[in-house]
Amino acid sequence: MDLRTEFPILDTRVGKRPLVYLDNAATTQKPLSVLQAEQNYYQRLNSNIHRGAHYLSRLATEAHEQARSSVAQFLHAASDKEIVFTSGCTASINLVAQTLALSGMVCAGDEIVVTTDAHHSNIVPWQMLCQRSGAILRPVPLTVELTFDMEAYEALLSPRTRIVAFPYISNALGVVNPVEKIITAARRNRPDTIVLVDGAQSTGHQLVDVQRLGADFYAFSGHKVYGPTGTGILWGRESILETLPPWLGGGEMIREVSFNGTTYNDLPFKYEAGTPNICGNIVLAEALKFTQAVGIPAIEEHEQQMTKALCDGLEKLPGVRILGPKTGRGALVSIVVPGVHHYDLGTLLDQMGIAVRTGHHCCQPLMQALGITGTTRYSFSLCNTMEDVQLALEATERALAMLQ
Ligand code: PMP
Repeated sequence: MDLRTEFPILDTRVGKRPLVYLDNAATTQKPLSVLQAEQNYYQRLNSNIHRGAHYLSRLATEAHEQARSSVAQFLHAASDKEIVFTSGCTASINLVAQTLALSGMVCAGDEIVVTTDAHHSNIVPWQMLCQRSGAILRPVPLTVELTFDMEAYEALLSPRTRIVAFPYISNALGVVNPVEKIITAARRNRPDTIVLVDGAQSTGHQLVDVQRLGADFYAFSGHKVYGPTGTGILWGRESILETLPPWLGGGEMIREVSFNGTTYNDLPFKYEAGTPNICGNIVLAEALKFTQAVGIPAIEEHEQQMTKALCDGLEKLPGVRILGPKTGRGALVSIVVPGVHHYDLGTLLDQMGIAVRTGHHCCQPLMQALGITGTTRYSFSLCNTMEDVQLALEATERALAMLQ
């Protein structure tokens, strides 16, 4: 698979060297069809949506609601009503945590189970909910192989477990969590335990069928799936979205407003106060279509080949420790090298044209558990090639020779 020509930004040179972009877990680059969709929106459709009587408003409204249907189809959601447009994965998770706080459905003594490898955006909103409600946060430890500890998790579950929130794929380790088993176990003691899956690193890399998964919420960011920044999706089961109260108040989320009281709009508009990111949402749907046209199974296979080749190569370099297992991982690899600071390695790689991410990856509790300050992370998308892997390996070898 070589789709580099679809991504004009990949022609960038870093000094004299071609850019090798391996920071896709932070954000993906955008293909031509996405760039064109953005221009098309502002050139042909731009108008505020939903209440306009005029032609452009009708066009923009139609395109926006068509985008919602495309997202629903992409996730295999039961209905368009279950698709809430947000500004990103972080906003999606906060929406759930904040509405749960307002709902009074989480009480003192309830427990919220999260994972040690969770991104801060899937920890802090729950801590805030705990502060408000008196609930208790329960992190699941990792196994020594740095995988999800199913035994420890099952031991943590009890009738007090109100919420279970975890990443499908950890952004710092690349470990793919056993999603379906985690969800099934979550409800064993208490059938109404609420389950949220953070899909920031799985969407666009693996097929996702929210109905088959069986969670209550699935969140992801548009910019990590070839779409624009400032876009995201919260999929929520219709029955639970109906039960929860609105969070942000304003235009669009209301049915009728008077000084005596306000009634709220139907789903999903109840959760979309104010003018949405109309262009962004339409373009996000275009980005998802792009992945479907390439084919998610083909993307997964291509990324798996590159990930395996990178692991095989890194493993041979002196001192390199790959975090997490070699198999059962997503399209990213995090390493530590004793005696070498991740930032120094990242800086030298940058000088050789290789873009990686260094640091704690917004996973400080994980770093604390591992007793490290950060890692060097290489992450793939469909626009990478085996040549990128080779260049990254050669550059890493040279950089380590300078640093060790
Ligand atoms: N969860 C995971 C697993 C992530 O990797 C990220 C982004 N690094 C987020 C949540 C937050 O995404 P955003 O910053 O786009 O809201």
